[in-house]
Amino acid sequence: MLAAIGVSYSAQAAAEKVFTAKQGGVFYLTVVAEGNPASVQGRFHDRLVPFFKTGRAGEYGALVGIDMADDPAAVDLKAAITYPDGRQERIYRVVVQAEEFRVQSMTLPKEQVEPDAAALKRINLEKEKVQTVLAGFTPERLWSTGFLVPVEGTATGAFGSKRILNGQPRNQHSGEDISAPLGAPVKAANDGIVRMVDDQFFSGVSVILDHGLGLFTMYFHLDTATVKHGARVNRGDVIGTVGQSGRATGPHLHWAAWLNGSRVNPFALAKLPLDR
Ligand SMILES: [Zn+2]
Repeated sequence: MLAAIGVSYSAQAAAEKVFTAKQGGVFYLTVVAEGNPASVQGRFHDRLVPFFKTGRAGEYGALVGIDMADDPAAVDLKAAITYPDGRQERIYRVVVQAEEFRVQSMTLPKEQVEPDAAALKRINLEKEKVQTVLAGFTPERLWSTGFLVPVEGTATGAFGSKRILNGQPRNQHSGEDISAPLGAPVKAANDGIVRMVDDQFFSGVSVILDHGLGLFTMYFHLDTATVKHGARVNRGDVIGTVGQSGRATGPHLHWAAWLNGSRVNPFALAKLPLDR
């Protein structure tokens, strides 16, 4: 068995398959592994690509995220299949294509664009809190079917947009804004665990859901959050209502997704055919 693994390992010099994805995109990758590996785990850039058993014989699947700021270039994704007595590596080539992000100029009240010292202190603590949540890792997949769009409304195409606030260039916008009426129900995009319910300076009333294996979805500017920290939610459960809390110019849902260190377009996630 070990000899066979060794042979196939050394024979895997060229990429097995080529994937094309845009900045902020997500794709679904499957590998078939013989026998009963102890683990199947990938690396893309310096990011973890955790695989899960799909339920089909010998098949493992993973969601792979392209960060919205990843360079448009061909990058190898390496998947390691580890057995008690050996290891195989499969190499996949990922061709990242540039997405055309919009430039959005907005005028906002000065204190929202240039916060004072007290507000800055609060903002930094809130940022740390979010980073701590997103650094958490639940080692099991909590979802089993595709992701849904959490609110009925109009996506504004704001994902990845380069923002100019009161004439000052700011960070790329890492979520999609869906305009919807105040009070409209916001649903969980998929099964998961509530990892944060907070009221933050920029994002207002915010909920973060953990879907396992390093995937999180975020719901910002809510009017109300109707879930508690630590609660289990099912796909489609109402977790809050649309609002304009925090820095927002009108009622909308800021919906974002974080996949093992990459900021991906949540609509790309929702488009994946995952009902398997
Ligand atoms: Zn937004």
